[in-house]
Amino acid sequence: MAAVIIDGQEIANAILKGLAGEVANLKSRYGLVPGLVSVQVGEDLSSQSYARSEARAATEVGIKYSTKSLAEEASPEKLLKTIRDINANPQVHGIIVQLPLPYWLDRDKVLAAVTPQKDVDGLHPLNRGLLATKDGEPLFIPSTAQAVMFLLAKSGVQVDGARAVVVGRSNTVGLPVSHLLMRGNATVTICHSRTRDLGGVTRQADILVVAAGQPGLIRGDMVKPGAVVIDVGINQVPDRQSKIGYRLLGDVNFAEVKEVAGFLTPVPGGVGPVTVAMLLENTLLAAIRQGSAAGILPSDYQLRAN
Ligand code: NAD
Repeated sequence: MAAVIIDGQEIANAILKGLAGEVANLKSRYGLVPGLVSVQVGEDLSSQSYARSEARAATEVGIKYSTKSLAEEASPEKLLKTIRDINANPQVHGIIVQLPLPYWLDRDKVLAAVTPQKDVDGLHPLNRGLLATKDGEPLFIPSTAQAVMFLLAKSGVQVDGARAVVVGRSNTVGLPVSHLLMRGNATVTICHSRTRDLGGVTRQADILVVAAGQPGLIRGDMVKPGAVVIDVGINQVPDRQSKIGYRLLGDVNFAEVKEVAGFLTPVPGGVGPVTVAMLLENTLLAAIRQGSAAGILPSDYQLRAN
């Protein structure tokens, strides 16, 4: 039987609708407008495309989204000063540094410059470290990892006790997803580019999360029948037939895997839109925390859960 395709766009639309109601309430009752700034260095096409999706969704829910663009050749000092200035701006509640940065910039140093209270993508070393410790309470969790868990929950997938395999060990996706699955009581195996017999490992997964950046890496015969497969990969593959010159492919061979899996996320329209929704939810959470601390909101104001 063919897999149930998880419609990430529909799930994201429902989240955005809820967020729009929250933002409207904050504005009308307290005059608080949540603000998110995207910091972009250089002209990386895929991060520009992520930023456009974020800007569209933010506008839809009423979050003030602005972009701070720096030239590719901007000095590290200039970039760090830009981030420090945004940290100090009370109108801005969340900051996202678009990745990848040009290779000569020290990514960890840049991410560490974002104040943890505004680190809505959860990539500050403090937040990453807290996520990696058993009972640590990070202020924010990376939005892609949150999106994976949200899609599993919305699809009624039981994580507790499941055998989960994560392909990819990056700080931005693979590791945080693994930590969240482990917190959900799954038994987690992490695979990476040096894993031997990848298929032998992925075939054991009840839940398979793939974030490798390798189009079509996971073939049908690498998946256990009935498994839940979450494809995080977004790869621009050249395509002369397409008007834009490329098409987007996931890390999973969709045609093959949909015949084997029980659930599968498509690319595009799977994890991507939910990631954006999670980033905006984190921004709203940041605005509520900062608004409460500044006395603009009641100290017990809570974000309604989706
Ligand atoms: P990355 O390059 O930082 O990490 C890739 C990981 O995959 C590494 O740990 C590497 O060891 C592993 N890997 C690479 N080739 C492999 C192979 N052949 N077998 C097993 N493991 C292999 O990438 P990333 O930032 O983690 O992103 C991964 C993918 O997810 C990319 O396609 C990216 O565009 C996409 N992404 C999507 C979203 C979203 O919202 N859907 C967000 C972030 C990243």
